[in-house]
Amino acid sequence: VKTGREQEGMMAEAEPEGEKLVALTFDDGPHKGSTERLLAGLKEREVKATFFLIGSSIEGEEELVEQMAQDGHLIGSHTFHHVQLTSLSLEEACGEIIQTNEAITEVTGQTVEYIRPPYGSWNSRLECAVNMREVGWTVDPRDWDVKNTETIVKRVLGDVKDGSIILLHDVYDTSVEAAFQIIDELKAQGYTFVTVDRLLID
Ligand code: ZN
Repeated sequence: VKTGREQEGMMAEAEPEGEKLVALTFDDGPHKGSTERLLAGLKEREVKATFFLIGSSIEGEEELVEQMAQDGHLIGSHTFHHVQLTSLSLEEACGEIIQTNEAITEVTGQTVEYIRPPYGSWNSRLECAVNMREVGWTVDPRDWDVKNTETIVKRVLGDVKDGSIILLHDVYDTSVEAAFQIIDELKAQGYTFVTVDRLLID
């Protein structure tokens, strides 16, 4: 995969020629139970992932968010109330984004740079208002809809290729179990799992 850095003509670090990269992204957490199991399984497999958190779900689950940061996962925003940003006034939309960033930063001490807008609803108007990078996806097994581990795994493995960004939701145990099977299979196929920032091209 060509990373942004490679495109700029600089040497890529620790990315041998021909390495296949893939990013697992998890929306809608943190969620008691399922997110905890996911973090344990990712750690066991030494995989870094990306989490797009709902701001209003952080209160009471601060330990999970702290653990994410400690384990080296990338943490982004998924708005405070899981709203469709383009249907709000600019002021309301910015409020959703800022409130979430503050909730994450309060726990992790890290600045939040990436956002996955719910429903993929984003426009350039919002970029003017907040300095954040929008992150989409390329592989969507609709895990929230099927809630069936086997189907999720089959859909992802059928669609995945070098540079894929896989969309899952860590609020379902079926998705967490699917993530583990996807990791084990793709590792066997020679894939390396990276946080999504490594796959974004300017
Ligand atoms: Zn969502």
